[in-house]
Amino acid sequence: MRVLLVEDDLGIAEPLVEGLQRQGYEVTWVRSGRDAIAERNHDVVLLDLGLPDVDGEVVTAGIRERSDVPIIIVTARSDEIDRVSLLDLGADDYIVKPFGFRELTARIRAVTRRASDRSVTRGDTVEFDGLLIDHRTRIVTFNGSEIPLTPKEYDLLDCLTADPGAVLSRDEILRAVWDENWWGSTKTLDVHIASLRKKLGSPDLIRTVRGVGYQFAGTDQ
Ligand code: CA
Repeated sequence: MRVLLVEDDLGIAEPLVEGLQRQGYEVTWVRSGRDAIAERNHDVVLLDLGLPDVDGEVVTAGIRERSDVPIIIVTARSDEIDRVSLLDLGADDYIVKPFGFRELTARIRAVTRRASDRSVTRGDTVEFDGLLIDHRTRIVTFNGSEIPLTPKEYDLLDCLTADPGAVLSRDEILRAVWDENWWGSTKTLDVHIASLRKKLGSPDLIRTVRGVGYQFAGTDQ
């Protein structure tokens, strides 16, 4: 397991590097956002939000432009986080300083497990009434035109379409797409559903089931 640690504070980084290495992780430590964006080939990124050169949001977006690697935001204060925007940029989870080492490794295991679940091939593509989802490339097209989705929107669509017609509760969806310890409000889910409906151009494809959750209403081809 290769960890990219992005942290400018020596006092925090050193014990983390040491602790992670003791647990068998391979750690690359960089101190700036620019170096973080330039790094490649890691299984998880631990990203300090307060970096000297570039905003955490910019770093997250920069990494996301070329990689689906799970990103855990590390922050000193929970109110520092603009939750919805970090989600939209594709961060997977966050942890607030000071945190226990055990908690950190649990989060790392959770996000990397979800990422490897995602890469299990479930059949390369599925199609519903002109909507084509390619699980290999994570590309979604509608009548041949690509629909640009954020990583979370893709995961949400993937979750909803895994069992077409099934009604999924909000909790089930949040657990599958985010984390069982997800800190965000369920409003996060509604925001993503709304944006997904808009992008799919066919609001009826995802039905709201009042008091329960959502249902994908497309017909499997
Ligand atoms: Ca910092």
